[in-house]
Amino acid sequence: MITNTFIPLAYLLSTFLFIIALRSLSKPETARRGMQLAAFGMVVAVVATLFNAKIVSYEEILIGVVIGSILGYPLGMWVPMTAMPQRIAFSHAFGALAATLVGVGEYYIGLKAGTLASGQVTALGLEVLLGSLTVTGSFMAFSKLQGILPGRPLIFPFQNTLNLLFLAAAVACLIWIVMVPTAAPVFATMIGISLLIGILFVIRIGGADMPVVISLLNSYAGLAAVATGFAINNNILIIVGALDGASGMILSIAMSKAMNRSFTNVIFGGFGAVSAASDASSVAASGEMSVISVEDAALRLAYAARVIIVPGYGLAVSQAQHQARELADLIEKRGGDVKFAIHPVAGRMPGHMNVLLAEANVPYDKLIDMEDINEHFSETDVVVVIGANDVVNPAALTNPASPIYGMPVLKVSDAKSIIVLKRGQGKGFSGVENDLFVNPKTSMLYGDARQSLIDLNIQIKNV
Ligand code: NAP
Repeated sequence: MITNTFIPLAYLLSTFLFIIALRSLSKPETARRGMQLAAFGMVVAVVATLFNAKIVSYEEILIGVVIGSILGYPLGMWVPMTAMPQRIAFSHAFGALAATLVGVGEYYIGLKAGTLASGQVTALGLEVLLGSLTVTGSFMAFSKLQGILPGRPLIFPFQNTLNLLFLAAAVACLIWIVMVPTAAPVFATMIGISLLIGILFVIRIGGADMPVVISLLNSYAGLAAVATGFAINNNILIIVGALDGASGMILSIAMSKAMNRSFTNVIFGGFGAVSAASDASSVAASGEMSVISVEDAALRLAYAARVIIVPGYGLAVSQAQHQARELADLIEKRGGDVKFAIHPVAGRMPGHMNVLLAEANVPYDKLIDMEDINEHFSETDVVVVIGANDVVNPAALTNPASPIYGMPVLKVSDAKSIIVLKRGQGKGFSGVENDLFVNPKTSMLYGDARQSLIDLNIQIKNV
């Protein structure tokens, strides 16, 4: 039959598109094309799957497509960039729920037909185990980031031991059903325990570690999809799940590295918890902050030869990317050199600053990664920090008592002078004080970043 050739060929094309897309996503200048290729690859895979002879009801699929589109459109179009991490966590929860439901459905179909074999149950069991813990874990991550649940880690005695015992119990159930595939109550118990594991593992993770958790859960959802692919004999699910699982894992490791934390420390460390040893508020910055007027800041920038702009979460909140670009243009018109310093976890999602600055058409060669720009701060006349806090906190390098000690940061204090744009005394994501703001070289320009930049740009034009 034609579909026997068409479906595998279409899946091959999709796979090719997904791999090229992933490759394109590794650079800001090709990322947009990467997303388009990935979306096209997904359309090809979905259309090919619709030709599968096993499909029993196109009506139900159509209802699913309509409901999914009604929910998906507003999620894609109207959720602000600043809320992207929780939106992604929300989507993971549903992806994992789909994999779990497919697994549960396949298991009970096989049970009723008496066809369950150990091999199939191994795949189904893995799919359901990973899928269920990803569902609750992702909902927990979503609720924490959305402020529905407290963001701080919830720690209680022997928590890690209890979590590991639950994990061991879930794995024991999995082994049991592989040996006795018809043991349906054990299958149901495994689902219950896995759902609990998702909650218990994520409640003890908080603060700055949530992006790593989300990417790790992404990886689990990918592995659940691989298992689904084996269980229902679908090659594209195996391939896509493997790509998703591997890229999620690589991103988690890269982000842990960016925070100078080990994987196990992220998962078991309870970073950001209130404790006598590392209460964030106990690491207070001492000294006076000096304030600068817009006029003085404009003068300093207008005559600077080398300027580095450090964007952070506040730039995203105030949507100041276009004004930041205008500031760079104005300084360059006057003969100065301007670069943007990009910290890998600035903002609230990987690549957040790249996306915003690309939207404002900042040339890609002006965006310099942390490792490359750090050595240039010492030769810089003025650094303009726009709504960044944790990623420029020198305590990460110098204060072993700080909860963020060890996280690689932008070495802004090496510059000759620093102007910080923020609204007031607000702390960063990890809630720790920042000594940079009381550094004698630092001047604070208070106000919403966008408004401050509008005022600053007007003043520079008049210099
Ligand atoms: P940050 O540490 O969260 O600090 C943001 C600063 O922006 C605040 O101190 C705030 O001070 C200021 N701000 C907020 N709104 C503003 C506005 N409208 N105008 C001017 N300033 C404003 O940001 P960051 O330095 O970018 O660090 C990111 C943090 O988020 C890291 O701890 C990172 O680990 C974490 N994180 C990262 C990701 C990721 O993947 N990128 C995801 C989740 C979490 P005021 O209130 O005084 O204005």
